[in-house]
Amino acid sequence: MIHKRKYGIAVLAGDGIGEEVMREGVKALRAVERRLEGVRFDLAGHPAGAGEFLRHGDPLPEPTFQACREADAVLLGAMGLPGVRWPDGTEMAPQLDLRERLDLYLGLRPVKLLHQEHTPLKGYRAAQIDLLMIRENTEGLFSSRLQKVPPDAAEVRDELLVSRHHSERLFRDAFEQARSRRRKVTLVDKSNVLPSMAFFRRIFDEVSQSYPDITAERVYVDAAALYLIQRPHTFDVIVTENMFGDILSDLAAGLVGGMGMAPSADIGAKHAVFQPAHGSAPDIAGQGIANPVAMILSAAMMLDWLGEADGAAMLRRAVERALADPANRTRDLGGDLSTETMGDRILSQLPA
Ligand code: ATP
Repeated sequence: MIHKRKYGIAVLAGDGIGEEVMREGVKALRAVERRLEGVRFDLAGHPAGAGEFLRHGDPLPEPTFQACREADAVLLGAMGLPGVRWPDGTEMAPQLDLRERLDLYLGLRPVKLLHQEHTPLKGYRAAQIDLLMIRENTEGLFSSRLQKVPPDAAEVRDELLVSRHHSERLFRDAFEQARSRRRKVTLVDKSNVLPSMAFFRRIFDEVSQSYPDITAERVYVDAAALYLIQRPHTFDVIVTENMFGDILSDLAAGLVGGMGMAPSADIGAKHAVFQPAHGSAPDIAGQGIANPVAMILSAAMMLDWLGEADGAAMLRRAVERALADPANRTRDLGGDLSTETMGDRILSQLPA
């Protein structure tokens, strides 16, 4: 067979449940590969994470970083362990290093309710939760995270960075995403208090002028938290600063079944990393009970980005079909299936 579409994928399983869900992600890609004529995935595993730091002293070894740079895409499990920290008390976060070093400014976090029983909300509106959270990934309140703080410092400041260049491309992407959705973009900010956020909003207003076909809405972050609970169905695309996006995307994941249901993509002009929005979940790691749905849906986002829309749609449909049956639930969703069995049940829904 001639392989016409061959993709080099760097696979970084990472720590904790990262390794457990990655096995299901890889299985899903192999299953799709068998069903797509002419497609081949070259999957190459590379070490990274807090465990790798404990083994060899570097959470993101240079050969791993180079492999990510050279790959067509990166598939990542989860990284970080609460007990493994830098001397200043922060956790090792090679996934953040990758975002910054590969300039993956666009954090896409789709949040969609796939089954009514997964949401803690009541009422018909909950059934319509289908939004795309866009998180600015390389600036904002994370921008000074690597600053060195003297141990005897009397005060410590973090910086919230907003640059025109990064914000313009972020907002343009948000409006473009809305064009293939329900044509609404909500900016979430704190422009009533912080000058950096007033600047952020001004740039949003400017960019919105080029998209008269898209409704542009502006909401303060505190109100956004309220509205996400009260009327989540009114949101289509949400675009926001790094830290706000970090917090609100966990909140939004909680509306559709939790972190095990939340995929994500970190995208730049040349590179992209796809990973579940969750962390390494040390509270359940090693038990084989993590939900692999977020991982499999992240693999689907990767296929879309690679231009393999049929493969992506195939995986999404399989997830939706499997979840339609209440017997197919891991513990976070009230069931008792293992990670592996849940993965198998999803893949059994793929076309023959
Ligand atoms: P990070 O800061 O690295 O993103 P976190 O501190 O937000 O991590 P997570 O590791 O995402 O924490 O875990 C948050 C909660 O969600 C934990 O209770 C964890 O068990 C649960 N959780 C995360 N991922 C999954 C999953 N795939 N399946 C089931 N439960 C999960």
